[in-house]
Amino acid sequence: MAYSLTWLPDALRKAGLKIAEQPGWIDRGLGPMGEIRGVICHHTGTKAYDRTMPTLRMLVEGVVQAGGKVLPGPLAQLGLGRDGTFHIIAAGRCNHAGKGEWRGITTGNTSFIGIEAENDGAGEKWPEVQLDAYRRGVGAILKHIGASADYCCGHKEFALPKGRKNDPANIDMADFRARVASLMAGTGVVSNPVIPAKDSQARPTLRRGDKGEAVRVLQSGLGINADGVFGAGTEAAVRDFQRKHNLVPDGIVGPKSWLALPNAQVAVGLAANPAEPAPAKPATPRTLAWGVKVSSAFRDRVFSICADLKVDPDYLMACMAFESGRTFSPSVQNAAGSGAVGLIQFMPTTAGSLGTTSDALVEMTAEDQLLYVHKYFTPFRGRLSTLADVYMAILWPAAVGKADSHGLFVKDGPKPRQYLQNKGLDVNADGIVTKAEAAGKVAALLDEGRKAANLWKAD
Ligand SMILES: [Zn+2]
Repeated sequence: MAYSLTWLPDALRKAGLKIAEQPGWIDRGLGPMGEIRGVICHHTGTKAYDRTMPTLRMLVEGVVQAGGKVLPGPLAQLGLGRDGTFHIIAAGRCNHAGKGEWRGITTGNTSFIGIEAENDGAGEKWPEVQLDAYRRGVGAILKHIGASADYCCGHKEFALPKGRKNDPANIDMADFRARVASLMAGTGVVSNPVIPAKDSQARPTLRRGDKGEAVRVLQSGLGINADGVFGAGTEAAVRDFQRKHNLVPDGIVGPKSWLALPNAQVAVGLAANPAEPAPAKPATPRTLAWGVKVSSAFRDRVFSICADLKVDPDYLMACMAFESGRTFSPSVQNAAGSGAVGLIQFMPTTAGSLGTTSDALVEMTAEDQLLYVHKYFTPFRGRLSTLADVYMAILWPAAVGKADSHGLFVKDGPKPRQYLQNKGLDVNADGIVTKAEAAGKVAALLDEGRKAANLWKAD
């Protein structure tokens, strides 16, 4: 079942933080959370300094403690890497607090979100990028739950008997809270300077989601497939490159990474060519078909899902408009009584294969249900370049990648009943429902969604 902390990625992303969702996190937990009151800060006590989140597996699976006692995972909702990335581990209750008390609250695991930050706890200096993310992440969570900075504490402050824990080591929690409070009030100085959009030689800062010639140059410099799309694979290669060059492995190519790249001269040539100025890329697309019908959180999630899947966000919106009868409602039911529900009309068996149920899907917010839309489409990542293919992934996955003239349902074929059930789609009534015919209604909804009344535009 999905647990309650499904808002964590959005809250952190909105605070400008980098996140990495661990597969299965929505359904992971020892049980449900109670009312969330605050955050407990920890350190992992792990060395492996060259890796950004070496404790990840342990946080998911649990640990065998000294004396052989097993502490089952998950051990925290969030892991914070040395590069400042938040790894989303669980949406339910976790084993992180133990016995203790903070501001009168003694139900540690039930009431507090746990953050395990990578640090050896034995004098390792906290990287500024990690400390800054720590404060901003805690601030974003407290803001979301409507609590003040007083409701974050160190495990060393919570744990009883006193002295049982020393984490997070070398962080003065009173100072930490003061900085979180000023960040929450909007007066906090971000100690980690924002990476400039361009370096001194006009090379653009590149990150996941970027596309184009500069990305292609970067990829050839890294020795990977130069498709011009900065996706997960490119990000992994960048982190790897940065680790090897003793740079902060944040996966973002700024001035320092450009300098270290063997193809730096090529990049200079590219940016110096006045005929081809490196375009300043907006962080997110500026328009979205049907975008005025959904919340900003919904739009943000569609953008991030589509960046991952390499799908045009307008295509996914058109498909959801079609499947949900323009409602974008998580609970809308199939009119013909097939039992299908929600944004992409999940069938009960589909819900099961995604690790949920139709009942649970209907109860979710539309924003949360998008996480299951993402999960559904993940096997098709990188293969859905046309509207028809996005729709085929829902209607008839075997037709993904096939020609538009491909026959899905054939009257005189081996399964005439399938044709009869979909006869309405056979526009030219030739006894064959082609891929193009089946996608025709979705194409009309794409056009409708791009009309002024339905099109969302960024300010
Ligand atoms: Zn701890």
